[in-house]
Amino acid sequence: MAKGVPIWLLDIDGVINAVTDLPDRRVWRGHQWVRTAAASNEDIEWPILAATPVLDFLRQVHEQGRAEIWWHSTWQHNSVNVGTALGLPSWPVRECPEFVSMDAVLAAPLLSTKRTWWKLPAALRVLDEGRPLLWTDDDVRHQLRAADTRPWGNRALVLAPPMQAGLTPRQLRRIDRWLRKWPARPALT
Ligand SMILES: [Mg+2]
Repeated sequence: MAKGVPIWLLDIDGVINAVTDLPDRRVWRGHQWVRTAAASNEDIEWPILAATPVLDFLRQVHEQGRAEIWWHSTWQHNSVNVGTALGLPSWPVRECPEFVSMDAVLAAPLLSTKRTWWKLPAALRVLDEGRPLLWTDDDVRHQLRAADTRPWGNRALVLAPPMQAGLTPRQLRRIDRWLRKWPARPALT
């Protein structure tokens, strides 16, 4: 049985950053989208398009101590730039020695029996520590099979948002229900 406050591994592109030029108004209404930019390697500024209800939900989960949120993204240490640009609390980047370089990530073939997705070992380490795992990553649908996550049972909730919208209202409700099963840390004041 997993114990403690859940660890939330949070991807950026396709999860809180909608990968599109035009926000999807069927998912969130027009006024709910915000645009900004954040610097990645070599100070290249990338556009960020995020839905305020998603940002508000993340802030609330953090403030209420319902999960420990960690960045788990190809943005790696630059993830904090995205958090700052969006006015989010400062979350740590999940340690991930399996991330070698962006070039290596782009060169890796999709779903192959002979390799492990670089993001997976960090998720497995959370479960090995006995912590409940919430993992939101749009690439899960390409990189993991149902057989990979089935043994995790209720200890984990793994969600793949639609890349061009990011987390949806329905997924936020599902996360809310799942988080209710676990104890929260004392709320931040
Ligand atoms: Mg992504």
